[in-house]
Amino acid sequence: VIANYAAALNDARLDAATREKYTNTLITTCNRLTNLVKNILTLNKLENQKLVAEQVKFRLDERLVQVIISYEELIEDKNIQLDLNLQEAEVYSNADYLDLVWNNLISNAIKFTPKGGSVGIKLKVENGYAVVSVSDTGCGISNEVGKRIFDKFYQVDTSHQREGNGLGLALVKKVIDVLGGKITVESHFGEGSIFTVAIKA
Ligand code: ADP
Repeated sequence: VIANYAAALNDARLDAATREKYTNTLITTCNRLTNLVKNILTLNKLENQKLVAEQVKFRLDERLVQVIISYEELIEDKNIQLDLNLQEAEVYSNADYLDLVWNNLISNAIKFTPKGGSVGIKLKVENGYAVVSVSDTGCGISNEVGKRIFDKFYQVDTSHQREGNGLGLALVKKVIDVLGGKITVESHFGEGSIFTVAIKA
């Protein structure tokens, strides 16, 4: 795609609107490729190195708010109702690695939820764990498929293939394993999904 659009842009006869369209396609495609490479590199690093994730105390609720703010525009564009309920929580973990988890779960929730649906993000502290759940009213995942979504490059919904690469949840699972947390998914096909992550508080 990049090579074709770059070649097409070489044509001096292109009008301004077409040139803009081609340039935007180039930018989007480059961003997707960058994300793919970033995900592969991070996953590779987590899998092959004995990663000692530096852990410090931080406020998980504050960090989550920062991530959620970055999705404001996407949420508005899809007219998605955001249901937020974040309890104050301090955890001893790695905020940067956990950001990968929140970004993947939240972007999936938005991506697989149709216009006008809702996404819920909750944080509560129970039994010594900070428990974050990301729920959506999207297409849902069947039980059978649910067992494979943490596998690398696994994608169920081919209509969204262009927007992802099937690496997000593999990365999420790896990060949670490295940090000693837990992740579960509960879903009803056609109704929506809830991903729940527990991190030691
Ligand atoms: P992708 O880059 O395709 O989103 P992921 O590893 O993040 O890759 O997810 C793997 C697959 O799991 C997705 O392609 C999709 O089929 C399914 N999936 C993930 N999150 C959701 C969700 N919230 N609702 C429905 N399906 C989901």
